[in-house]
Amino acid sequence: KKRLYSHSDKLKPFLVLVNPNAGSGKAKNIYFERVCPIFSEANLSDVLVFTQQQNFAREYVKEAKLDDFAAILVISGDGLMHEVINGLMERKDWPTAIKTPLGHIPGGSANALSCCVAYLSKEVFKGMSIESFAAQTCFNLTKSLANPLDLVAFELSDRRIVHSFLSFEWAIIADVDLESEKYRFLGGMRFALGAVKRIINLRVYRGRFSFVPADDYLDYEPKDSSIKINRQKSPIDFNDGGSEEMESKFKHLSPLDKPVPNNWLTIEEDFVLFLVTYLPLISSDFLASPQATFNDGHMHVIFIKQGITKTELLKLFANTENGDHLKHHLVEYVKVKAFRLEPIGLVSNGQVDTSNRGIMMVDGESVPTGPIQAEIMPSLGNILAN
Ligand code: ADP
Ligand code: MG
Repeated sequence: KKRLYSHSDKLKPFLVLVNPNAGSGKAKNIYFERVCPIFSEANLSDVLVFTQQQNFAREYVKEAKLDDFAAILVISGDGLMHEVINGLMERKDWPTAIKTPLGHIPGGSANALSCCVAYLSKEVFKGMSIESFAAQTCFNLTKSLANPLDLVAFELSDRRIVHSFLSFEWAIIADVDLESEKYRFLGGMRFALGAVKRIINLRVYRGRFSFVPADDYLDYEPKDSSIKINRQKSPIDFNDGGSEEMESKFKHLSPLDKPVPNNWLTIEEDFVLFLVTYLPLISSDFLASPQATFNDGHMHVIFIKQGITKTELLKLFANTENGDHLKHHLVEYVKVKAFRLEPIGLVSNGQVDTSNRGIMMVDGESVPTGPIQAEIMPSLGNILAN
């Protein structure tokens, strides 16, 4: 399964992209004080690039001569890796470009990808300083293999296609993620502070969630029997009414302005939490989907409908470290291959405010709020891991 970067590749330099403004601003020091000494011991060379602003890395990898590099390493948070993946996918030669092995060294505030790499190779990653974690990650990278990595293609409400490696957030987690950006100087602590603030002022959003279940979830029933699933029993018809362009790109999605194909399932609910992940962790202390691996071929959806108390929600957020939130009777879980989410509006006092449909985040980066859909692209990329 594992594909080694070849010996000749190993003699090529790594392309190292550093975001000096990530997290609390430690990425540059991490590079010089932790990464360089290890590269030098391991006899590895690199080409160093500091990003100058947002989308700098995206444009850089769009033009880069990828053949010159053994792999692309990112020293930042997850946002810079998101840029790199999208830059690669925007190239004319994207089918080969996206196979470039990617490595992540923690340098931002969440660093979910580094945590996932450590978690999936049974390495320690909790309770370390970011500097020690970066050194450990870098050391492991020197002897890593390229593992196939599932990516997810999103069609955004403005019709742009964006690729993602980690997560889709809506409702409380997206609100926390965006609102806590102003506490970036706190590093990882920013999420805890933001979560408490958002639980106190809890919001409920109405939305329509449609999905193609994984083969072992065809008979999926929510734990809460008050949640109704609309199953259309008519014959399966993929891409009903879809254009040829959509059919060539996607296996499951039909155009956003058309209804979902009639083999999809639909749930319309008032949601407190809606989170989709394709890697196990979204931060060092949030094991969102313990079953996820680099290439399990699925998206993992968790959602909570309205009705949960603030105390219960607080307790849940305190129990995400080992994935125990999934055992809670109010936390729903379903494994899917594709989904569509149509946000309807903020619910308060029985009224729906359609002018506020919440915030949407892909890999922790905000995207326009509106109907959005996604499909898993199994093993499309390659991630360096042990
Ligand atoms: P963090 O974990 O702190 O959020 P990220 O890697 O996610 O770190 O980066 C945060 C944001 O900064 C992303 O949107 C990324 O595109 C953007 N970015 C990248 N390079 C720079 C730069 N040099 N200056 C400012 N922002 C940048
Ligand atoms: Mg996965």
